Amino acid sequence: MIWIGDVLVSRGEGGVYNERMLADARVWDPYRSKLAALYHVGKGVELEPSLKVLYLGAANGTTVSHVADYVEVVYAVEFAPRPMQDLIEVARRRRNVIPIMADATCPETYRPVVEYVDILYQDVAQPDQAAIAVRNSVFLRGGGYLILMLKTRSVDVRKDPTAVFDETLAALENAGFSVLESVWLAPYHQDHAAIVCKKPEIRGE
Ligand code: SAM
Repeated sequence: MIWIGDVLVSRGEGGVYNERMLADARVWDPYRSKLAALYHVGKGVELEPSLKVLYLGAANGTTVSHVADYVEVVYAVEFAPRPMQDLIEVARRRRNVIPIMADATCPETYRPVVEYVDILYQDVAQPDQAAIAVRNSVFLRGGGYLILMLKTRSVDVRKDPTAVFDETLAALENAGFSVLESVWLAPYHQDHAAIVCKKPEIRGE
């Protein structure tokens, strides 16, 4: 990752969402992006130019645009029409962003346009976040990483966030993932945790 002092940045064309520029680089604000927050409070996964990413819950492309500055290609899935318009604009200015208007609970609908990826990144505020990640892991190559941004209140607002967190970790482990890192994103985002997992290597790959 690229740091200028203690400021996380990405190198690409600015002006996506009025982000600040620093020494010709785009400041990646941890208060505006959960992935940026993960790099501040934890380790995350090092983004590199050879990597392919499937991004679920792209919204208006704020975080997508920074990820695209680092990697080869981002398949960006979003189902809401309004943010999709902004996402299309981001894709117009970045040749390596493929916007896909689809429901992440139905990965079969975008199977024809998505290839195997190295990182599956998920940020959808839904009750069944672990199940959505597991369903989409068909796109993840063996040894690839899942980065799940868990919004505990979306799973069950009445439940203790720690219980939701533990249940999600258990669900991912039951699905065969090895959990590498699990951290709360405070003080940048409340009631949000990041879970980084690895998919087992597939024999013969
Ligand atoms: N990841 C974005 C960022 O950092 O810029 C913010 C994502 S926002 C918290 C969650 C997004 O997920 C919303 O735009 C919402 O429309 C989208 N979303 C929620 N459920 C979805 C689903 N089942 N399929 C596709 N997108 C979904």
